[in-house]
Amino acid sequence: MFSRVAYQALVNAIGQEYVSDDPAVTQAYTKNFWFESIPEERQHRPAAIVLPSSVEDVQAIIRIANRHKFPFIPTATNLWTTCIPHGPGYVLIDAKRMDRIIEIDEKNMYATIEPYVTYAQLHAEGIKKGLTLGIPMSSSQVSVLANHLFCGITGMNHWTGYQHRQILAVEIVLPDGEILEIGSRGLPNAGNFWGEGPGPDMRGLLRGLWGHMGGMGMVTKMTVKLHPWVGPKTLEAKGLSPNREMVIPKTMKNYLINFDNTEDCIEAMYQIGASELGTSCTRITAFWGPCIMSRSANELHKLWKSGLIKSMMGKGGGLVVRLEDFYEGQIEYEEKVLKQICEETHGNMIPPEIMGPFDFVAGELIRPGSTLRAQRAAGMFFAIKLTGGSLEWAKETFERANALKKDYIPQVFLDDDNSCWCASIDHGHMAYTEIYLYGEMNREAWKAGMELTEKSVKEDLGKRFIGAQFSEDVDLIGPHHLDYHLILRKFKRTFDPKNVSNPPNPISWEEKEGEWFKKGD
Ligand SMILES: Cc1cc2nc3c(=O)[nH]c(=O)nc-3n(C[C@H](O)[C@H](O)[C@H](O)COP(=O)(O)OP(=O)(O)OC[C@H]3O[C@@H](n4cnc5c(N)ncnc54)[C@H](O)[C@@H]3O)c2cc1C
Repeated sequence: MFSRVAYQALVNAIGQEYVSDDPAVTQAYTKNFWFESIPEERQHRPAAIVLPSSVEDVQAIIRIANRHKFPFIPTATNLWTTCIPHGPGYVLIDAKRMDRIIEIDEKNMYATIEPYVTYAQLHAEGIKKGLTLGIPMSSSQVSVLANHLFCGITGMNHWTGYQHRQILAVEIVLPDGEILEIGSRGLPNAGNFWGEGPGPDMRGLLRGLWGHMGGMGMVTKMTVKLHPWVGPKTLEAKGLSPNREMVIPKTMKNYLINFDNTEDCIEAMYQIGASELGTSCTRITAFWGPCIMSRSANELHKLWKSGLIKSMMGKGGGLVVRLEDFYEGQIEYEEKVLKQICEETHGNMIPPEIMGPFDFVAGELIRPGSTLRAQRAAGMFFAIKLTGGSLEWAKETFERANALKKDYIPQVFLDDDNSCWCASIDHGHMAYTEIYLYGEMNREAWKAGMELTEKSVKEDLGKRFIGAQFSEDVDLIGPHHLDYHLILRKFKRTFDPKNVSNPPNPISWEEKEGEWFKKGD
């Protein structure tokens, strides 16, 4: 529990100005997109907020947490649900004051950053030096560091692979307050350029599709790989807010291709990958388009009901492909290959001149900015079957998910029966899927989403790889995947003996009396 003595210890270490337990302040930190819809008994407000400015500050906070036995949550922009306290007495560490880009190394193509550096910030600085990185659909306002630790799915993963594989070096304050340096920065004077050794590679402690969700201490510096950018040094925008949109650079061209059936769409993704075409290849969902284009719920319903977007997507899904001119004539050549693939897979390429509103959506794949409109229009957002596997699996995932969703549409969720998002990873060697559900922000939708998650996980047990979106799922999934839940538990116990780092993440609670800890401790 968080005591007055613990509060005073934080004030003494970090300064009164940067510690607050004022309910008006702590309440402001509950504006997570799920908070209003989760059951009341789970709606915990943080006991206090603390804003460190350096690794030493973070170390001091975590040592105080160990001494006074209160749980802390390392947060970046606080978007994701794992930043909601699991119980009373949690202290939220807000990294807002740690927002420096420490270095961009043009020659070796990497950047070293602090936790609150956003994608917008790093992308804007990177492109000035001819360097870029993939940006997730959660939009450019999220933290680069948090996203590389957690989820890390971007359209550009087609070209570069998963975001968590771009991590080169890390400085982390472990749950007991010790500092660990990982990657080449762990070797004296080696710098930040490389992650693969020599010596043991501890990046696995942090990585994974969902990472440790703040359950293994706080990362204070990270070096991430950057990639070549052939666009202008600054991105141009046109129009007035809320209709302001990016001017797509001349060195890039986006294509929307629709299909009559999923098999053809997946085959096209395989072929695009095998031909190593483009920097992004993503099957997008019909409902997502109007969601991000609408400025109100009314507008969303009107656009969706008009059927325009749905018809542009086709029954088998709409594929957005981005080609880039890394050398003169590359787009021209690759477009010919793309057209040939379309012919072989019965894809209908929507001519750029009639792509109309989708040009705006394509810009979203370069530097996303308005995906959060998805919540503004529909209220709440849920996803099931968040899975990394093969493209073949993705096809099967769509079928299973569509069957599961049917009972809930339209009573609880908006959307249609084919809202399956799928990103090609590493040129189609892998695929990542998410099946979306857009609902009102209310308990009924949240309950239905959790119910669907459980059904989805259970039907896949033992049959395929399942991503554990919630730490509660780990014990369910683990026995079917090399008992990894037991390994995770050993890591948690070893690195977090006092159980203070965003418990219970990344494992589920151990509820037995006399065990290491029990729910609510
Ligand atoms: C509408 C919507 C769309 C989304 N789309 C995508 C998408 O396309 N791709 C994608 O990858 N994700 C997506 N997400 C998921 C997620 O929100 C993002 O991955 C993003 O990383 C959250 O960034 P943040 O800065 O808000 O992190 P936070 O929400 O602050 O943190 C995320 C997790 O990381 C931990 N954490 C934060 N900082 C640190 C640190 N310094 N050290 C250790 N742990 C830390 C937190 O405890 C938390 O568990 C989406 C979310 C929403 C709501």
